[in-house]
Amino acid sequence: MKKNVVVLNCGSSSVKFAIIDAKTGEASLTGLAENLGNADSCMTFKTQGKKQQGDLVANANHAQALKAIQDVIASTGEKPVAVGHRVVHGGERFKEAALVDNSVLAAIEDYASMSPLHNMANLKGITTAQAAYPDLPHVAVFDTSFFQQVPQRAYLYALPKKLYEEHGIRSYGFHGTSHQFILDSSASLLNKPVSETSIISAHLGNGCSVAAIEKGIAHDTSMGFTPLEGLVMGTRCGDIDPSLPGTLQAKLGKSVSEINDLLNKQSGLLGLSELSNDCRTLEEAAQNGHEGAKLALEVFCYRLAKYIASYLIVVPSLDAIVFTGGIGENSSYIRSTTMAYFAHLGFSINNDENLAKRFGTGGNIAHECSSKPVFVVATNEEWVIAAQALTFA
Ligand code: AMP
Repeated sequence: MKKNVVVLNCGSSSVKFAIIDAKTGEASLTGLAENLGNADSCMTFKTQGKKQQGDLVANANHAQALKAIQDVIASTGEKPVAVGHRVVHGGERFKEAALVDNSVLAAIEDYASMSPLHNMANLKGITTAQAAYPDLPHVAVFDTSFFQQVPQRAYLYALPKKLYEEHGIRSYGFHGTSHQFILDSSASLLNKPVSETSIISAHLGNGCSVAAIEKGIAHDTSMGFTPLEGLVMGTRCGDIDPSLPGTLQAKLGKSVSEINDLLNKQSGLLGLSELSNDCRTLEEAAQNGHEGAKLALEVFCYRLAKYIASYLIVVPSLDAIVFTGGIGENSSYIRSTTMAYFAHLGFSINNDENLAKRFGTGGNIAHECSSKPVFVVATNEEWVIAAQALTFA
């Protein structure tokens, strides 16, 4: 019997929604309401393989979007048993998903000081959905929970310790639901229990992160206090010298928020290439000789390889390196360029398998002679959220 869960991912100007069978991961509905608060707010959804335009007024707010989503859900005839909400920041309190009550809502609001845009939008999504579905359990599933077992030596910054004690300044890690899914899928591919599975997992989408997972437990990850740290991303810079924001403020005469905008929205692949944040566009341009695109992809792969290499010491029982996310699942170029750095360590990529793994086709792309397998896995964060929500239904 189906166990349908409504999964909501509420951003500052968008709501991503789905109905997922928590037992199989199958989606009977997926959709997106976007540009909320703007004249061109709109909604699209897909059900039974058919893409459709939803009914959304101009300048729709979150409540209006949720009402329209509720109507679409009702029209499918599916009967949800729970609502799972993606929440970005769960601080140190939420080591796992939580049934929403007043104290959970207050904590999500509290952690908004560390992730203002995300957590406040997530909160709005939860309270609006509670009004729409008062009889269903609402479950908050946090991006940060998967990394709550990371040891202190990995999550502390070398700053005065009281900044951690008094203000919670530490690395938290994000993309936890995706890394959890990759771990579970890798365990299946390896035919091992999750608790015996050790991987380095690279989630490469618009946001990018790597996780070091030893015997089923996360030991380190590249994102930090916010999702800005670590790898080169679509528009985010990842690691930079910490003195740079202050230097840039002084040199360019910009405010703190303008510098934040520069590091989060104008940097990464977009900033380096001066062309695009889209990996597909950059690969095509690089093939046509665009120097900026070539440079951006080279820096992207080098940084990624450097992180993966550093995690080889964090994951002594390594079973596999795993790629996921829009870039990781589809770009044979990024995978082969990154893995070429590991040739002297015995890793070897099978070009035919690498080229074949895209658009949802996953599996091993390493040669038989490779020291370890290299997997491509299509992530399914919604399924993780649905499965965790179902435990409270
Ligand atoms: P996500 O955030 O997981 O949806 O991933 C978005 C990123 O995946 C964008 O940079 C896209 O350019 C990239 N992407 C999607 N499909 C492909 C593809 N076929 N080849 C290379 N990159 C892709």
